[in-house]
Amino acid sequence: HAKRLGKDRSELYDSRLHANALASQRTEAALRRAIEENRFVLHYQPIVSLPQQAIVGFEALVRLLDDDGTLIAPQHFIPVAEESGLIVPMGTWVLRQACSDIATLQRVSGMRLAVSVNVSAAQAARHDLADTVASALTDSGLDERSLCIELTESALLEADESTLAQLNDLRARGIQISLDDFGTGYSSLTYLRTFPVSNIKVDRSFVAGIGVRPGDLAIVRAVTGLARDLGIGCVAEGIETPRQLAEVIALGAQYGQGYLFSRPVPVTDLLDLLVPPLRTALGA
Ligand code: C2E
Ligand code: MG
Ligand code: MG
Ligand code: MG
Repeated sequence: HAKRLGKDRSELYDSRLHANALASQRTEAALRRAIEENRFVLHYQPIVSLPQQAIVGFEALVRLLDDDGTLIAPQHFIPVAEESGLIVPMGTWVLRQACSDIATLQRVSGMRLAVSVNVSAAQAARHDLADTVASALTDSGLDERSLCIELTESALLEADESTLAQLNDLRARGIQISLDDFGTGYSSLTYLRTFPVSNIKVDRSFVAGIGVRPGDLAIVRAVTGLARDLGIGCVAEGIETPRQLAEVIALGAQYGQGYLFSRPVPVTDLLDLLVPPLRTALGA
C-alpha cells in the first residue's frame, strides 16, 4: 500500500477529521476489516545521531488506511486495537513489515540503518514474543543489531517472568530495547535495573517544556545524565525547534528525533532523507 499511496497522500491523515468523528465501534469494525485486508501503512521517522549529525535509524509508526483512502493516526485506533486484542496480529504485521522494509533499504542504500518497532503490553505478555521477533528477522534477513523494540513503562508494569526471560533472550541476541515515553508512565528506576534496557527515550512533553517550564530542563538533564552513567543510549523525542536541539545537545543526549529533522514519511521517501539536507536542520 505504501507504494500506491505516494508522496502527495502521505500527510492526508488528519486528526481533525477523525478525532471526534469516529465512534469507537466504527473504528473497531474498520480495524477488523483493515487487519483482514492488511490495510495498514507504515511511516518512518528518522532517529539522528547528534554527535555524528547523521540518520542512524528509523522508528516505524503505523497508520490505518480508511475506506476513503485517508490515513488514520494511531491515537485513534491503537486503544481499540488494545482493548480488542487485535493489537497482537497488527503488531506482528508491523514488526514483519518494518524488518522487511529496512532490510531492503539497507541493501539499496548500502548503509547500516536500524529500525525501532513499538511493542504493546499485550504483545510483550505473550510467550511467543521472542519467536515472533526471531522469525521476522529470519524471513527479512535483517541483522539482530539493526532491530530495536520500543516498550513503555506501562507495558513493563504488566511484565511477568516470561516477559523478562524473553527480553533477556532478545538482548543477548543483539536486539536493542528502548524504554519509550520515559517519565510519563509509572516511572520507576527499578525498570532500569530489572529489564535489559539499551536506550531511554525522553518523552517529547519534557523536550517541549524546555524554555517553557523550568523543571523540564532539569528533568531532561537528569535523564540524559542517568542514561550516560548507566552506559545506555538516550534519545530526545519530539525535537521541533533549533533551541530544543541546542539544549538537548548541550545536555549530552546522543540521539534525537522530531519534526525539526523530519515528520514520519512513507517508506518510498526514505532514500531521499538519507542525502544531505539533514545538515540544514542541524545547522551544519
Ligand atoms: P511513540 O512511540 O512515542 O512515537 C512518537 C510519536 O511522536 C509519533 O506519533 C510521532 O509522529 C510523534 N512525533 C515525533 N516527533 C514529533 C515532534 O517533533 N512533535 C510532535 N508533536 N510529535 C512528534 P504517532 O505516529 O502519531 O504515534 C503515536 C503513538 O502511537 C506512538 O508514540 C506509539 O505509542 C503508538 N504507535 C505507533 N505505531 C505503533 C505500532 O506499530 N504499535 C504500537 N503498539 N503502537 C504504535
Ligand atoms: Mg515509540
Ligand atoms: Mg515515544
Ligand atoms: Mg510518545
